[in-house]
Amino acid sequence: MQSQLTDRINRISISPTSAVIAEADRYKSRGVDLVDFGPGEPDFPTPEHIKKAAIRAIEENRTKYTPTAGILPLREAICAWHQRELGSHYEPKECIVNVGGKHAIFNAVSVLVQSGDEVIIPAPYWVSFPDIVKYAGGKPVHVETSAADGFAVRAAALEKAVTPKTRLMIINSPCNPTGGVVPPEEYEKILALCRKRGVWLMADECYSHFVYEPNSPYSITTAPGAKENVIVVGSASKTFAMTGWRIGYALAPESLVQAMIKLQSQSTSNPTSIAQHAALAAMTGPMDSVPVMLAEYARRRKRVLEGLRAISGVTCAEPGGAFYAFPNVAAHLANGASAAQNRPKDSFDLSRQLLEKAHVALVPGEAFGAPGHLRISYATSLERIEEGLRRIERFLHRAEAAS
Ligand code: PLP
Repeated sequence: MQSQLTDRINRISISPTSAVIAEADRYKSRGVDLVDFGPGEPDFPTPEHIKKAAIRAIEENRTKYTPTAGILPLREAICAWHQRELGSHYEPKECIVNVGGKHAIFNAVSVLVQSGDEVIIPAPYWVSFPDIVKYAGGKPVHVETSAADGFAVRAAALEKAVTPKTRLMIINSPCNPTGGVVPPEEYEKILALCRKRGVWLMADECYSHFVYEPNSPYSITTAPGAKENVIVVGSASKTFAMTGWRIGYALAPESLVQAMIKLQSQSTSNPTSIAQHAALAAMTGPMDSVPVMLAEYARRRKRVLEGLRAISGVTCAEPGGAFYAFPNVAAHLANGASAAQNRPKDSFDLSRQLLEKAHVALVPGEAFGAPGHLRISYATSLERIEEGLRRIERFLHRAEAAS
């Protein structure tokens, strides 16, 4: 079968996070009491005024094709929202609405990257970046970040990876899976590096509004000279708890946006009209759900960190943003400090055993280019977090005793 498919589809794999979610769903459908730390989506409902706007859109028959790039009021609203919230200056002609942030990244990479191009992606990375680059024919080049640095990538480390073939750098701050936040002064150094070396900078801002003190929402687009080199990718998914609505956007120089519109016109056409009207209400309406979610994530982050750090052999950097903890569990693996036979052989194996034996679903570090780690999404209730921590601790202690 493989040989009947194109080389480009054979270059990529199914998203490992989707695979974990599907596996967790199988357990749940069998009635298993699963603690699910898998999904990277808010556990809060979409705010009422957004849902009502969608219902109104249906009732008013706004159910037809829209312009490929999205309805003008939404493009205007995204530019105004980004200016208000993050201080940028974009016009609707520099904005395209896509079917989620992932689609915005896919389209931007498709129009910028071709065979032979290198794309620098700090690791640990969000699962889809390397595969989207590979699908476009490019080569992902990873630059390691460390827990000691809070997983924030440094310009100096990126500089060492730049070659004449480097076309693009993807910075995801706050980062999925680590929660790492690039400090503004470092981000500006990264931009200066990109400008000096003629490299595009993609700023994935999907988690921009979920940052913990002392960090605050920041966009590199406020730096002088940013607009010529930067492609912003954003999403309604996390900020407005709208993952299923599939609305994302890109802000970029007009010529790049035009190329993305061309691609979109021959693939998905416009994002769903009804979802666009919902996103319009999100971007123009009250933002009060955001601090409420953030305060709850902050409470959960504290508890997850305490709980993980209390387990012997587990270390965990404090995430500066997003809603993930990324503990290092290498000491509990057979290839860790001791080579005990009965221990899980790697974090992939550990996550499988945690699912099968402790009924805890989470994503192994291998998916993010960081073996020896686990990604725990704390977009779930404190009560489930307590239960999950108990199960992980019990499982690790039992495995330790048996080894
Ligand atoms: N970028 C990052 C870092 C993400 O974690 C995600 C989703 O998990 C996305 C982009 C895409 O989100 P969506 O396509 O739902 O807008």
